[in-house]
Amino acid sequence: MKAAIFEEIETIKIKEIKKPECDPKGVIVNVKACGICGSDIRNYHVGLKDGIKNQIMGHEIAGIVEEVGPEVKKFKVNDKVAIAPDVSCGNCYYCKRGLVNLCLNHRMIGTHWPGGFAQYIYLSSEILENGIINKIPRGVSFYSATISEPASSVIASQENAKVGLGDTVLIIGDGPIGCLHLEIARARGAATIIMAGLNRLKDASLFKPDYLIDVASKDVTSEVLKITGGLGADIAICAVPVAKTHNQAIESVRKRGKVVIFGGLPKTNPMTTINSNLIHYNELTLIGAFSYPGYIHEQALLAIKNGKIATKKYINEIVPLEEIENGIKLAESGKALKVLVDPWL
Ligand SMILES: [Zn+2]
Ligand SMILES: [Zn+2]
Repeated sequence: MKAAIFEEIETIKIKEIKKPECDPKGVIVNVKACGICGSDIRNYHVGLKDGIKNQIMGHEIAGIVEEVGPEVKKFKVNDKVAIAPDVSCGNCYYCKRGLVNLCLNHRMIGTHWPGGFAQYIYLSSEILENGIINKIPRGVSFYSATISEPASSVIASQENAKVGLGDTVLIIGDGPIGCLHLEIARARGAATIIMAGLNRLKDASLFKPDYLIDVASKDVTSEVLKITGGLGADIAICAVPVAKTHNQAIESVRKRGKVVIFGGLPKTNPMTTINSNLIHYNELTLIGAFSYPGYIHEQALLAIKNGKIATKKYINEIVPLEEIENGIKLAESGKALKVLVDPWL
C-alpha cells in the first residue's frame, strides 16, 4: 500500500509498504480520507511526541472496514467508520473515574500507532477496546466525517465551560477551530458570537459571526466592551496557539466570566502572562481543554448529520498522499481552512 512516512522533522516520504495484516482480534480499515490537523503541522516542524520517527501520522480518519478478525464483535466488513486518535488504558486513576481523555497512559494513533496518511490502517484489539471509533451516520460522506475529530474537542470544551442559552461568546482565532467553536456555540444557544481573527477573516465570515474583529486594526477588548455595553463577554475562548490571547480573553469577559484555553502553546515556550488581579477581583474561571471521551465523538458525527456543522465550508482542499507536504503548507499559510488527504487520489 501507499503511505506517507514521517521520517524526521520536516521530511515526509511517500513509500510503497506492506499492507498491514489482520489478526483474530483486529480490524483493517480502508482509509478514504484523513484531515491535516494543527497538531500534524506542529509535529511536522518539531517532531512527534517521545521523539518517535518513521511513523505514519494522521488522526482525523474516515474509512470503511475491509477485514475483521473472527473474534471481533463490534464491527463488520463494510462498516463506515470515523476514527479519533486517543487511546486510554482503562485502568488508571482517571480512566476508572470516566475521565479517559486525562488517562495517565494516554497514547495516540498517528504517534504511537501508524495513522491515517496511508491507504489502510490496522486497528489492534487495544485500540478497538479503549480507542474512539464510531460508525458514520447515514448521509454523512467520508470527507465530512473527518471533521468529527476536531469538532469533538470543541464540543467537549464547550460542555466543560457550559456555553448555553443567551450567552455572549468571544472566540479568539479565525481558523477551522475558531469556526467550529462558532458553530457549536450557536448550536448550544449562544445569543451573540464575537470572533476575533487575523488572516482568515474571509473564510470565517462565511460562518456569519454576529461581530468579526480584525485584530490587525482593532483592539479586541475595547471592541468587546463596546459590543456588550461595557459588561464584557460571558465566555471567551482562546482558539489559537498565541500566548497574548490569554490576557485579551481575561480582559474581555464580565465578572464571573469564563476563559477557555483551547489552543496549546508550543512546548518550547508554554509560558503566558495574565493579569491575575482580574481573575481575583472579578472571580473569573479559567478552563483547560484537552481531547474528549468517545461519546462526544458520537455527538460530533450527529451534529454533522444534522447540519449543525457545515463541513463543506471547512474543506477547501483535498490532496493525494504525494502532495501531503504541500497540504501542510497550505493549511499553515491560512490559504485553506481545512486540508484533507485522500490516499486513493
Ligand atoms: Zn486533530
Ligand atoms: Zn488510563
